[in-house]
Amino acid sequence: MSNFNNTLQLIRRAAVGLKLNQTVLNKLTKPQKVLVKKISVKLDNGRKKFFEAYRVQFNNARGPFKGGIRFHPRANLDEVKTLALLMSIKCAVVNIPMGGGKGGVKVNPKNLSLAELEKLSRAWVGAFKNHLGPKKDVPAPDVYTNPQIMFWMMDEYSKLAGKKTYAAFTGKPLEHGGSQGRDIATAQGGYHILKQALEKIKLNVKQPRVIIQGFGNAGYNMAEILQRAGFKIIGLSDSGGGIQDLRAKGMAAKNVMATKQKRGGIYSCYCLGSVCDCQNYKGLTNRKLLEQATDILVLAALENQITPKNAGKIKAKVILELANGGINPKADKILEDKGILILPDVLANAGGVTVSYFEWLQNLKNQHWSRNQVLFKLKKVMEQSFKDVWNYREKYQTTTRLAAFTLGLERIVKAMKK
Ligand code: NAD
Repeated sequence: MSNFNNTLQLIRRAAVGLKLNQTVLNKLTKPQKVLVKKISVKLDNGRKKFFEAYRVQFNNARGPFKGGIRFHPRANLDEVKTLALLMSIKCAVVNIPMGGGKGGVKVNPKNLSLAELEKLSRAWVGAFKNHLGPKKDVPAPDVYTNPQIMFWMMDEYSKLAGKKTYAAFTGKPLEHGGSQGRDIATAQGGYHILKQALEKIKLNVKQPRVIIQGFGNAGYNMAEILQRAGFKIIGLSDSGGGIQDLRAKGMAAKNVMATKQKRGGIYSCYCLGSVCDCQNYKGLTNRKLLEQATDILVLAALENQITPKNAGKIKAKVILELANGGINPKADKILEDKGILILPDVLANAGGVTVSYFEWLQNLKNQHWSRNQVLFKLKKVMEQSFKDVWNYREKYQTTTRLAAFTLGLERIVKAMKK
């Protein structure tokens, strides 16, 4: 079954709890708009190359569509639709007035020159410009897209619109209308969720052990934040593979990043090195890393990392799903039966979209909030969202994921009725 259909099952289960009728359910299970275009880029060698580009606008009952753009060789429509659906639920879970959307390009951006990457980013905007805009659809970065790319996209949109429109994209560089705190927002938000969850389950460990899969924006910042808070990082990975601290003394995230960056990068966007360049740790595959004993497992790479195939081998006590769709919904039950607490993507990684929303607000109002202001507001939103989801978990006697879906769905339906 496709990822999209798997995720729809969750919507249907939440709908049963909420006693939604079929007409409403039909609306909630179909994207409002699915846009697929071929975009072309003139390569440095003079040849034209075509790429498949996507934008899915899932639901805007609560506000403009909001969601990242992914540049990835395996990007596809099913994935973008799934991520757009998750964005709708996520924005409702954290109660921000935004709907859900997602975009992507099937491309390996590491194979492009800087000039080609810029052309591709601008071409994406050209293809979807009529559907974008601060009050319509506000994209943001996702896997392998970053503030530089958001700047190009905002700039292209502004040119086409005939006026500077900072609020058309979020996740921009600070000097081009970006928000303080957006860089660490996803990880920081995840930390607030994890902290409250650990209090709920009364994990009595002085220095909880953590394994993190993925060492990009979400994973690296999470490692830094957790390390500073006294957690012990015992395993890390990226697309190059994993490393494990057998002495369990704890890895210093900054040192690992410095080693990874030694081999240089591609236009300060993509690292050539890997966490595996750190010689003082044991190397292991990503798959094996997930199966190691730990208190907390943070998923911060791609979707479908835990499936029914490996769920039985997971030894963590808590899984923080920073990656969208990191756990295949079919693996949830196996993990729960083992007593593992899952902090699902629509709650765990919602710090990113929350600060994107703050950025959009600042752009619209022509304001600049300090880092402290942003992080304080983020903490309040995340703590309230955790409480709301936990209350639903108890009210419906269900899992944290289904509780979050139920809460999100209920809020969307309320807005649709209005
Ligand atoms: P990123 O591009 O900054 O980093 C991705 C990391 O994953 C890289 O370290 C890469 O090497 C690693 N990776 C890729 N394939 C891998 C594999 N097979 N095994 C292990 N590691 C692998 O992306 P990001 O922004 O950190 O996003 C990571 C996840 O978090 C995605 O699922 C994304 O949708 C989600 N997310 C990110 C944000 C955000 O604000 N950045 C917000 C919400 C959700």
